[in-house]
Amino acid sequence: MPQGCYPLYPALASAEPLPAEVDVVIAGAGIMGCATAYHLRQRGLSVLVCDKAGLASQQSTRAWGFVRQQARDPAEVPLMQAAIPLWQGLETELQAPLEWRQGGCLYLAETDQQMADYHAWLQVAAAHGLDTRLLDAREVAALWPALARPAKGGLFTASDGQAEPRRVAPAYAYRARELGARFAEGCGVQGIDRANGAICGVQTERGYVKTRRLLIAAGASSWRLLALLGLDIPQQGIRCTVSRTSPGPAIGAGCFIGHGIGIRQRADGSFNLADEAQADIDLSLGYLRGASWYLPLLREHHRSFRFRLNGAWLHDLRQRLSGDHPALGERDPHVRPEDSRVRAAERALTTAFPALREVRVVESWAGLIDVLPDGIPVLDAAARVPGLLVATGFCGHGFALGPLVGREMARWLDQGQPGLDLSAFRLGRFADGSAGKPYSLF
Ligand SMILES: Cc1cc2nc3c(=O)[nH]c(=O)nc-3n(C[C@H](O)[C@H](O)[C@H](O)COP(=O)(O)OP(=O)(O)OC[C@H]3O[C@@H](n4cnc5c(N)ncnc54)[C@H](O)[C@@H]3O)c2cc1C
Repeated sequence: MPQGCYPLYPALASAEPLPAEVDVVIAGAGIMGCATAYHLRQRGLSVLVCDKAGLASQQSTRAWGFVRQQARDPAEVPLMQAAIPLWQGLETELQAPLEWRQGGCLYLAETDQQMADYHAWLQVAAAHGLDTRLLDAREVAALWPALARPAKGGLFTASDGQAEPRRVAPAYAYRARELGARFAEGCGVQGIDRANGAICGVQTERGYVKTRRLLIAAGASSWRLLALLGLDIPQQGIRCTVSRTSPGPAIGAGCFIGHGIGIRQRADGSFNLADEAQADIDLSLGYLRGASWYLPLLREHHRSFRFRLNGAWLHDLRQRLSGDHPALGERDPHVRPEDSRVRAAERALTTAFPALREVRVVESWAGLIDVLPDGIPVLDAAARVPGLLVATGFCGHGFALGPLVGREMARWLDQGQPGLDLSAFRLGRFADGSAGKPYSLF
């Protein structure tokens, strides 16, 4: 794992034997698994969370930390609106500092086309009663006075917020464990047992556990577990690089995207910094899966991606030949930050904000974003497999949804249905061809 990606809390690993039977098994201890475990314990259900690697060791501690409602697929907006009040009370609820602050989110418009695109999104905002506004150049300058380069304007939502990813999922896990949830690290789910079609147990790397309810929240590996049940989703992983800088003068309380960078300033004055919505695709045989879904998108959005022929294909080939358990895939993928992106983002930061000329990148990491071709997650029970629930495919914006997804998945596992309309996030939409085009890629 790259330097700086460790959760702030000590590991939860324990050598204690797994329980013989629990109400719910969760595959994956990212923010979705940890938040769900916390809410399940509040409902009094026994729960075992298995992670093939470590607690929140993948996307959930590698994210930028934006908690935004704006510029999302319209189907996600009501979910994010319901998530904001949960974020507002989360530090108190989990009794942990999460660096939550509600300083808004600005997407800078540098061209007339961007202004027009953002203007169009105002209709989505208005339909949901969201406080999103289109700012002119003067208003942008007033909001981010340290910004040197002019802009046409921007899209701004004052009620958007931010929090520190290295704190949130671990905080959920620790509160869940205090309430009695069990966590097993380095313990992948590798088999799913059924009786008359319904879930009746899981085979983990440390033994068999009886359960009638299973949540698959395994991030970019979820497709592997679903494949065990004959369920196919065209899930892929794309690599994104993030950096943290040395502290600088306070320049803004919000999240900012523009001039080639995405930033948010943390409580200690440092910045989480990335180049704006750019991703790397390390070519390997794995990308043949779901290719028919992705090729048209890659053609249309080719400027957002860089294809890399960097040895990942050889690594992938070795893995396939090694006979490793296909349901697990790689245990702890060493996702390398892309040095050229780190340098480009650092340069763009000081060009956009000259007041930050002394600021330097002090650490970098990358994460494998789990994507689906229509840009929205799967949040669904599988009709063919009673007892199975799926929460995956968050396409680079699931950190913000984590508290809401955790609450809803727990309710669904407990009461047999969610409290919100989640029909847009059907599991079967790829198999029946009803999946739409992505509203945004990340
Ligand atoms: C660089 C980057 C920046 C991002 N920025 C933002 C942002 O600013 N705002 C935002 O909202 N979102 C952001 N995201 C997206 C967000 O981080 C994810 O959507 C979210 O963390 C997904 O959480 P998860 O629990 O589904 O998956 P993960 O955090 O990936 O957790 C999945 C877990 O499942 C485990 N697992 C896999 N297979 C198995 C198995 N067979 N058995 C047991 N365990 C298994 C893995 O080891 C892993 O720990 C970003 C993501 C990245 C990578």
